[in-house]
Amino acid sequence: MVQWVYRFGDGSADGTAQMKQLLGGKGANLAEMASLGLPVPPGFTVTTEVCSYYYANGRRYPDELSAQVMGALEAIESSMGTSFGDPANPLLVSVRSGAPLSMPGMMDTVLNLGLNDQTVEGLADRADDPRFAYDSYRRFIQMYGDVVLGVDHHLFEDALDAAKAKGGSQLDTDLSVDQLKTLVKTYKGIVKSSTGQPFPDDPLEQLWGAVGAVFSSWMTPRAVTYRRLHDISAALGTAVNVQAMVFGNMGMTSATGVTFTRNPSTGERAYYGEYLVNAQGEDVVAGIRTPQPLTKVMADGAMLGKSLEEVMPQSYNELVNVFERLERHYKDMQDIEFTVERNKLYILQTRNGKRTAPAALKIAVAMVEEGLLGREEAVVRVQPASLDQLLHPTLDPKAPREVITRGLPASPGAVSGRLAFDADSAEQRSAAGEGVILVRTETSPDDIHGMHAARGILTARGGMTSHAAVVARGMGKPCVCGAGDLEVRSDAKTLRVGSLTFGENDTLTIDGGDGTVMSGVVPTVDPELSGDFSRLMEWADTIRTLRVRTNAETPEDVKTALRFGAEGIGLCRTEHMFFEESRIIAMREMILAADVAGRRAALAKILPFQRADFVEIFQLMGGMPVTIRLLDPPLHEFLPHNDDELQKVADATHTPLARVRRRTSELREANPMLGLRGCRVGVLFPEVYEMQARAIFEAAHDVQKASGQSVIPEVMVPLIGSARELEILKARIEEVAVAVAEERKEKLAHHIGTMIEVPRAALVAEAIAEHAEFFSFGTNDLTQMALGLSRDDSGSFMDAYLREEIFPADPFQSLDVTGVGKLIEIARDGGRKARPNIKVGICGEHGGDTQSIFFCHRAGLDYVSCSPYRVPIARLAAAQAALQKA
Ligand code: PEP
Ligand code: MG
Repeated sequence: MVQWVYRFGDGSADGTAQMKQLLGGKGANLAEMASLGLPVPPGFTVTTEVCSYYYANGRRYPDELSAQVMGALEAIESSMGTSFGDPANPLLVSVRSGAPLSMPGMMDTVLNLGLNDQTVEGLADRADDPRFAYDSYRRFIQMYGDVVLGVDHHLFEDALDAAKAKGGSQLDTDLSVDQLKTLVKTYKGIVKSSTGQPFPDDPLEQLWGAVGAVFSSWMTPRAVTYRRLHDISAALGTAVNVQAMVFGNMGMTSATGVTFTRNPSTGERAYYGEYLVNAQGEDVVAGIRTPQPLTKVMADGAMLGKSLEEVMPQSYNELVNVFERLERHYKDMQDIEFTVERNKLYILQTRNGKRTAPAALKIAVAMVEEGLLGREEAVVRVQPASLDQLLHPTLDPKAPREVITRGLPASPGAVSGRLAFDADSAEQRSAAGEGVILVRTETSPDDIHGMHAARGILTARGGMTSHAAVVARGMGKPCVCGAGDLEVRSDAKTLRVGSLTFGENDTLTIDGGDGTVMSGVVPTVDPELSGDFSRLMEWADTIRTLRVRTNAETPEDVKTALRFGAEGIGLCRTEHMFFEESRIIAMREMILAADVAGRRAALAKILPFQRADFVEIFQLMGGMPVTIRLLDPPLHEFLPHNDDELQKVADATHTPLARVRRRTSELREANPMLGLRGCRVGVLFPEVYEMQARAIFEAAHDVQKASGQSVIPEVMVPLIGSARELEILKARIEEVAVAVAEERKEKLAHHIGTMIEVPRAALVAEAIAEHAEFFSFGTNDLTQMALGLSRDDSGSFMDAYLREEIFPADPFQSLDVTGVGKLIEIARDGGRKARPNIKVGICGEHGGDTQSIFFCHRAGLDYVSCSPYRVPIARLAAAQAALQKA
């Protein structure tokens, strides 16, 4: 018989932490903690296989499930000494979703399940406090109504506010038993009128309703979007955890909290968390009451209120013991939910805590020093793409600023943007190229798309573990939350702070590192790249086998890339070098010239500029390999676009206006990705590539002579589609090399190779390799031509395509998913057949994408080349790729 239900509690469990696929992350860790003997309330997990079964069988459960659930429920009853539905001594349970990977897009939690008009009396007796029982009851109806029955939660909140107003109460806790009883009736009325059905009284009916809601939530649009954004397969399914309730709201000796074993924002080794006295867990994360700090150190810092350490020292000490055990056990920073019921501590959840990139780095390196992790383990702990956050600017400490208010430093990084007051407009305005900050009173899972699109997030309510804070840290977005002075009016699209009012067109700057909110734009500075960062990078470098180069053509970019550890230039695009004021005229003269002599004369003016550019690059690179690509775009990109400009060009180049106009329209490519561009220009106008080759070789000679260090330029020909093209061009480039060597009376080593970026080139790679010493995959063009998509398509109809899973992934993300990787393998094999030692690399954008780098490692490429800011990402990803294989 299939085991669909796994039990845990009383020092033992059916499952283990390793069983995340089957039990979900939450269930697996509850099992593990129970086996470790930690104080976990007893419960059971309905497996992810039930979820798969449910969807494969028209939303029905396996036959054996009901009996297994009943058996497990009885086990909880006997452990707790209570019974489900027993009016005298009722068992209450929580029901929570729990996928193998954390998924905030799903149904989260129903607490206090099992309450009805009879059992609430039994609960009241047990607690010696009827207020507590009725408060739990009204919470249950509200939560169940919202997440299981789909009743608009505002209806409940409005009814609660009305009850408080009527009774003259400030806080939820001020409501009397009678007021709560009335509220329960009102709530039930809301459910009845919203759903047409009475609120279910039967605890078993409640339980199956909640289980069904968890499974259904797996396929809500929100969950589907979240999975798409995070590359999570729908096949995983979610588990359901049912667990005996313990109560943090049983008076002033009870509490509930969320904590981290280290600071998730900075990585500092200090316990870090929040709690509320006399509250249930949701109160902490929902941002409704602002929680108090866990430790005295935190209390002495920015946070308000007395710490748990001071208020409940005994529970705090027990909790600290649990922290230490769990961190050592899991060898990772833990995110822990706990409840204290009348001075007895319970642990409700542990998981590896989400953290910012700086924190991930600090924790990984610190854990090696503490002997918890080896270097290789530390290297896989940091997500390569997250390093981006460490490399980007922070506020210039010297810059003047006008701080308008402060909130909590929820996720670091400084950013400026105009204000967006709802998720949809944040998404739309970002898509239109505007940088926005999403401003909300508090965020909810419905805001995910807007949070994703915004540059930063600012909320008026909620603590360090509020939804906004947790999600922003996961996304690596700067976030300031709980800025209590802010009055956010999303309907009026205004933000008020004291006497100041800001609207959609106003700009603010937020600093998620210290929680400040400033008006206007505050300038930023580059980060320091030392300490933990360089240590982790050194470890990565000893592990990886792929080399990492950069795509750079300006001295500025080259210097940045070198700072980030680039080992060469994989792509120097020369066309940018023609656009400067002084050069573009000569370039236009060249294009407009009537004959070869005219073209040569114009090119002769450009040559010294180009040579000077290359000299600078060779000098900066100090003998590292430098691949220079010859001219690539179609010529019309250099010509003017409007009448005014046409006239200016005619004047400057002494060409009749009519001729300028005719030549411009002759050269216009309908699709600038295709047609007369790349090596085709080189074949038809030999002078262009000859000039460029000369500039390269002369520069290399000059630098070699001056430095005494050998300079070995790699000349790269773009857009080859047939072997013959390269054969012709290679012969001409070699001629230039020989001529320059004779003039300079010195030999110069060099390599000539090509990009593989036209699909045909991959198919005839063997023939091309006869003439090429290296291949570099131009996966930008290769992807666009292979998939028939341009980059601009990725945001338009592609959204619908991805949602419907018509395409497996964003075509510009990963080479193995799009199938472009197959073309690369074909080309690699063809190339190596003709020339076994051919050097093979990649210089399209994919060279900086983690998944694609994993692919390049598996495919046995020699190097990846990426933009300067991605060099550290590539170094780390290459190391992780090497470890994956092992
Ligand atoms: C490519 O096509 O991948 C490439 C690197 O060239 P470009 O992006 O300049 O077309
Ligand atoms: Mg290209």
